[in-house]
Amino acid sequence: MITGKLYIVSAPSGAGKTSLVKQLRNEVDKLVVSVSHTTRGMRSGEVHGSDYFFVSVDEFKTMIENQAFLEHAQVFDNFYGTAQKTVEDNLAQGLDVILEIDWQGAQQVRKMLPDSISIFILPPSIDILKQRLKNRGQDNDEVIARRMRDAVTEMSHYPEFDYLVVNDDFNLALSQLKSIIIANRLLQSTQQQLLTPLLQDLLN
Ligand code: 5GP
Repeated sequence: MITGKLYIVSAPSGAGKTSLVKQLRNEVDKLVVSVSHTTRGMRSGEVHGSDYFFVSVDEFKTMIENQAFLEHAQVFDNFYGTAQKTVEDNLAQGLDVILEIDWQGAQQVRKMLPDSISIFILPPSIDILKQRLKNRGQDNDEVIARRMRDAVTEMSHYPEFDYLVVNDDFNLALSQLKSIIIANRLLQSTQQQLLTPLLQDLLN
């Protein structure tokens, strides 16, 4: 059976990962983005079940006990996790799945699913990253300063990733992400399964 591919996309906060992944999902067929569970408060404009499943710490802990997570981690002061079943169901249906997770989650997923493909998105400069975090206007200065420190920690993990994309020009970064997905769909090992009748025809 042909299963989908699992993509891990990580980036420091403010690199533009969420906007890029949203647009990527709109433009590429058979691609879904996993909706994580989190204990962090909902930001204005966010929708439960679409941006995240917003749960209590108790609910999150119960999910850990029930081994419901493919991976989970504490990021900043909150818990985040990927529900295993939805990811597995989507992959089994032949859909490619994107996990937007931090470096800790990426390490866990890589260990469990070594065939996963990981992409790290970098900002074009530290000043632009700082500006993007400020422009969001969603967090206070203290939170922004803390996120800048965490961003450097996150970025130090770039060597663990298969691909690096710099998000300077949004459309260029988007087309680079698309290229990664399309190139992986064209791998001989994948195509061989999809093109079995054609290959049999051509070789007989
Ligand atoms: P934010 O609170 O800004 O939406 O996300 C903060 C950080 O949490 C980001 O780096 C994001 O990648 C990470 N994150 C979001 N969902 C998950 C998840 O399910 N697992 C892990 N490990 N990290 C996540």
